[in-house]
Amino acid sequence: MPRFAQVILDRSTGKELDYEIPESWENRIAAGSRVRVPLRNRQVIGTVVSVSETTSAKGVRLIAAVMDERPQMTPVLMKLAKWMADYYGCDEQDALRCILPRAVREAGHAPLKRKFAVLAREVGAEELEALGRKAPRQAAAVECLQKADGPLAVAKLAAQTGAADATLKTLERRGLIAITSEEVRRAPRGSEEFVPAEPPELSAEQESALQGIRPALRDPGAHKPIVLKGITGSGKTEVYLRAIAEVIDAGKTALVLVPEISLTPQTVERFSSRFAPRGIDVAVLHSHLSEGERHDEWHRVRDGKARIVIGARGAVFAPLENLGLIVIDEEHDTSYKQDEGPRYHARDLAVVRGKMEPCAVLLGSATPSLESFENCRKGKYGLLELTHRHDGCVLPVFRVVDMRLRSKDGERNDQFISPKLAGAIESRLAKGEQTILFLNRRGFFTVLACKACGKKVECPNCSVSLALHKKEDLARCHICGHAQKPPRKCPQCHDPQIAFSGVGTEKVEAAVRKMFPKARVARMDSDTMTRKDAYHETLGAFRSRKIDILVGTQMIAKGLHFPGVTLVGIISADSALHLPDFRAGERTFQLLVQVAGRAGRGDAEGEVIVQTFTPAHPSLQFAKSHDFDGFADHELEMRGNFGHPPYSHIVLITARADTAQKAEFAARTLAQKLSSAVPPSVMVSPSAPAPLARVRGMYRYQVVARGKQVRVLTKAIREVIKAIKLPKDVHVAVDVDPMAVL
Ligand code: ADP
Ligand code: ZN
Repeated sequence: MPRFAQVILDRSTGKELDYEIPESWENRIAAGSRVRVPLRNRQVIGTVVSVSETTSAKGVRLIAAVMDERPQMTPVLMKLAKWMADYYGCDEQDALRCILPRAVREAGHAPLKRKFAVLAREVGAEELEALGRKAPRQAAAVECLQKADGPLAVAKLAAQTGAADATLKTLERRGLIAITSEEVRRAPRGSEEFVPAEPPELSAEQESALQGIRPALRDPGAHKPIVLKGITGSGKTEVYLRAIAEVIDAGKTALVLVPEISLTPQTVERFSSRFAPRGIDVAVLHSHLSEGERHDEWHRVRDGKARIVIGARGAVFAPLENLGLIVIDEEHDTSYKQDEGPRYHARDLAVVRGKMEPCAVLLGSATPSLESFENCRKGKYGLLELTHRHDGCVLPVFRVVDMRLRSKDGERNDQFISPKLAGAIESRLAKGEQTILFLNRRGFFTVLACKACGKKVECPNCSVSLALHKKEDLARCHICGHAQKPPRKCPQCHDPQIAFSGVGTEKVEAAVRKMFPKARVARMDSDTMTRKDAYHETLGAFRSRKIDILVGTQMIAKGLHFPGVTLVGIISADSALHLPDFRAGERTFQLLVQVAGRAGRGDAEGEVIVQTFTPAHPSLQFAKSHDFDGFADHELEMRGNFGHPPYSHIVLITARADTAQKAEFAARTLAQKLSSAVPPSVMVSPSAPAPLARVRGMYRYQVVARGKQVRVLTKAIREVIKAIKLPKDVHVAVDVDPMAVL
């Protein structure tokens, strides 16, 4: 009896095609197998989604090849793809594509080899000099190998000396070097040894949290996801580590998701040093891996060699089997949301996956998202709390500085570092303690406008003001990267009174250097962190107290531990508050609590100074008293009044086109058709220009749909988009549960 496979092709419409399974592969092909199949006169790659005894299709052809010994996709991942297609309204092959990393999809299981070069004999100084005159590249490569004193990866050698393959071949032919090819496991963290770390004794609170998690570990099918709400430094990570250890001891595997930004060596090291000495391998999956590294890590997981995975949002698709626990650290973090199609939310997928496995799901945060918190209140999730900082340290003191009072007295209102903040920095410097200054805007000046006619000078491609980067003397767009010489006169009225204003991190750095000439100051934002190692170097220098004041953007807000920091200054708490987004208050609250968490982790008491023009804002006031519950009550009540999430789901539809008319027309048509296609309980907004009305030369119009049930929304939207046959040059993006409506 022949058997058939239903295959979804990587590059095609969501249709499933039937193929016959050759008898010899009966046992090798199952749902999740990657296969090569004939399509007209070509061969293409696809994923088997199911296997059947019969087919109703005519002229069924044979599968040509199977790409792996066993299916690359696990049964749960196959189910997850279906769920994604349904919930996010995407094609199933798009979901499959996002689950299986490209490095794996295309290379299959073939181990990747790496070439090494090594000196084949001694090369004296004279010989090297002679070589250098004739062939400087070759000489550089030899010199580099002499310094390396051992084999060096060819890729590294090339990066350091510019020696191309041909150069190395010539050297090999001349007998100066040897090139070997080895199958290697690329270790994304280098190959450092881990010092075994004995687990500390748990505090009573931690112990009872672990007790609360245990039933879910033992019988996950019968338990809900658990929110572990614990203030920064309360020892949540330690609780994760213990829960994971129990899962591993029970013979299962564990998955830890962390926001991309906190995937620092510190985090990985903490997990590895706990488990590696016990012979339990930790795999790391995040977006900064090379294709080769990702391929290797993925297969180590798939082959069951690594039983713990730690990674950023995409790691929710780690091919672990026999999963016992998924931890989502900082579950409120927006970096869990994928920003291109399918725009999934890794936390939400983790919860869904946990139910499918089934396995325990632990959502940790100092400031849980209101979605998760509301689920706790409704009893859909469990709630455990850690209320003390484990080291006995008290939470930092919060001081709010009202910047309005300062501008009233007129004279020094351009001084964006208040005397209070300046004084606090001064006293830290005197005591040899460290300060972090936080501002969520890069550049020197952030707004360019004409004083005569009021014209704001925007990026030619995007509807945002250009920011001045003084060191480079460039006006830059922070969205598309456009850079130009700063204009000397207004493009509209040609008045030379055009001026920059606003404050960016570069300006804060300059001001601080001027105020405290003896202090050691560094800045950390994406302008200064362009080199791969700069991030680690700066953090390292800060940790070893070679820097007194660190100025930075949200890069420094999260997950970093610096015992020497006793002061955090927030230059302006207002920038996030005034975004046209219903989550602006929540974001600000989260940010303040996060940033404050960087202060006073050592022996000394911490202090947070927040500068603002809206000191009475609830986000500030609740953050000031470290009152998450109060904030949540207040904010949820407001969300309820407006019918905002978590009391509804939003789908954001953005139409993009190269003219405003085209984008507007598409959005308007979509809005009209959609309102008549959905039940009356669904709200469909009229189309409107997006808050970011233009990005990279494309005009953007939006429609917001809001309802209780996502699937009703996504289904209707899909059908409407299909039915109205938009012109090819109009793009429509559908974002289910968007994190920002910009
Ligand atoms: P969180 O994840 O909540 O921010 P961590 O787990 O990182 O907190 O804990 C903060 C600090 O306290 C870390 O340096 C950690 O090593 C330490 N710590 C946590 N729990 C304990 C414990 N039970 N005994 C000793 N030190 C602990
Ligand atoms: Zn731009």
